[in-house]
Order: sequence, then structure tokens, then C-alpha cells
Amino acid sequence: MIERKISRFGVFFLIFMLPLCVFAQKGEKIQTIVIDAGHGGKDTGALGKVTNEKTLNLAVALKFGAYIEENLPDVKVIYTRKTDKFVELSERAAIANRNNADVFVSIHCNSTGTPNSAYGAETFVMGESKNEKNLEVAKKENAAILLEDNTDAYDNFDPNSTEAYILFSLSQSLYQSQSLDLAGKVQKQFASKGRHNRGVQQAGFLVLWKTSMPSILVELGFINHAKEEQFLNSEKGQTQLALALYRAFEEYKREFEAENSTTSKPVINEKKEKTEKNTVSDIYFTVQFASRDKKVSSPDKTFSGVKEVDVYEYNGAFRYVSGKFTSKDAAMKRQSEVRALGYKDAFVIAFINGERGTIKQAEEALKK
Ligand SMILES: [Zn+2]
Repeated sequence: MIERKISRFGVFFLIFMLPLCVFAQKGEKIQTIVIDAGHGGKDTGALGKVTNEKTLNLAVALKFGAYIEENLPDVKVIYTRKTDKFVELSERAAIANRNNADVFVSIHCNSTGTPNSAYGAETFVMGESKNEKNLEVAKKENAAILLEDNTDAYDNFDPNSTEAYILFSLSQSLYQSQSLDLAGKVQKQFASKGRHNRGVQQAGFLVLWKTSMPSILVELGFINHAKEEQFLNSEKGQTQLALALYRAFEEYKREFEAENSTTSKPVINEKKEKTEKNTVSDIYFTVQFASRDKKVSSPDKTFSGVKEVDVYEYNGAFRYVSGKFTSKDAAMKRQSEVRALGYKDAFVIAFINGERGTIKQAEEALKK
């Protein structure tokens, strides 16, 4: 029985997964994210004393998406559900694949057999569960398919059979390093807000199984831990969790795009004489710390404490920056100062002949 499953999966892997490896490199920009609020409708997920998992998952998912829509206008946010409705696990992955998403984030809450025992947050990537505890989390989340009318998509997968999970030992490598990177950033954000950090884990989740992009499953906390349920159910808790997810995603996107920018079209004016020495007005670094839909009338008041505030328009929003520096190091120093003022997501960008570019592009241009 197991043998049959492995060989069928082996065929599936050769036909569908290997060709994907060739195209494993996504685009140069993170343009689309699919946010998946776990469970919904007839599937309530884990139960707490005063609420249930599907409700908490949706609340945090919508907040997380709203932060992206507000602050990263170049990213398209797609939700697998925006209301209390049932969506099959295979359809959640299919939504991400159909929309050619760059990132997939599935949001859940944990629970254990013994109430008030375990607590804290953990983030999973697709992989082979290395211990019983992770396997149990996957079994619980995968059990959602038992409520589905048609389970053809899962190839007779029995979510409660430990043996069935051997399938997943083969299907982890494609986007695993990027998924681990994003998962690590999420946990770092949770920990920075004092959440108990249960770390980055691996297990076989059906909802992540067939996604063809970096994908993570976040367990926000334990709904059957009374104190944690209170936190998960509070406006403050949900805001904190959604912000942590947003900051992790923003950092992931920023780093990904900086790393991939070397292959993009250079912004540098080719006609420029190479012998001419570049001046600060041609190439400089600055620290972006805020973004607004409308222009701020008195930036000095609004951003009090931030030195040398300037503004530029980019992708339909007004971006506020601090300082003009000829070296990256000086800009990094300003970045620390601005972050210390509470603009925790402030980051260094560069301008090259009036166009926004990356640090790398500016450094290259300065060498010439
Ligand atoms: Zn769940």
C-alpha cells in the first residue's frame, strides 16, 4: 500500500515537479502575495473557550493584507477567503498557482491535547516532520480534507495515517530556502515583540504541498491556552501579529529585490561621460522611512525629530526620505537614527541621476 503510494508520487514528481525546477527562479520583483486564512465555513478549525480558529485566522489575515495594500502599493494582495466560507485545501494552493503568486502565507492557530500547556508562535515550511509534535500539527491541519466532498486532488491521502506522510519527504526542495528565509523573518518579528518563539519547523501540509512559490504556514499561537486565546482574540494582539507578518514580508521583499536587481536594466544614463566625476547630485543614498497617499502639509511637524526630510513620488504614493549621503555607511548610520525614532521599517535606497535605484546599482555607478 505504501509502495504503491510512493511510486505514484514518484511519477507525479517526475512529470510535474522536475520541470518546475527549471523555472524555480521567479521574477525580479515580489508583486503578488496570496494570504490564506486557514479553515472557514463548516470547518471551524481548533476551538478555544470564547472563539474559534477560523475567526482569528481571518481577522489577522485581513489586517495583514491591509497593511500591505496601504504601504506596498506595488504588491497585489489576493485572499483565499475574505469571509467565513469553506475553501478546499487544494483550491487554496490552486488560487496561488493560478495567480502566479510570488509568496503564499497560510495563517492558523495551534492547539494541543492538554489545554493551557503549550503556548507561543511557530512557522512551518513544507518538509518532512522531524518529530512527533510537528507531525501532529500537520495531521490536525490536514484533517480539513475530511470535510471536503471530493478528495481526488490528494491521491487517496489519509491525513491520520503516519505512513502517508512519507510522501512529503520527497517534495521539499524547490522553494525551500526562500520559504525558510521568510519563515525565519516571521519568527524574528514575533520574538521581537516578546512572543514565545517556538522556531521555524517543517512538516507535510497539504495546503503547501502543491504551491509553486515560497510558502509558509504560520501558527500564531495556541487557542486552547486561556491567556494566549485572550491575546489572539484582542484587537491589540491581532494588530501586533499582523504587523509582525507585514514587517517580515516587507523585509523579505526588499532583500529579494535588492539581490535580484543586478540583472535588471541599469538606471544609469549610458550617455554620461565616464571620465566625468560623479557628484552627490548624480548619485546619492538616502533613508526612506514613510509612505503616504497624500502629501503631508508640514513634514517637519508630522515627522518631528527626523533630520533633512525630503519627499519624492513613486508608484502613486509620496515617499518620505531623510538625508543625502555620498556613502552607504553614512546612510546606514542615518537609518539607525531614524529607526530609533520609531520608524522601524526605514531602509536605505539610492538615487542615480534622478531615478530611484538600489544600493548595489549606486555602488556600481560610483565606481565608474
Ligand atoms: Zn488550522
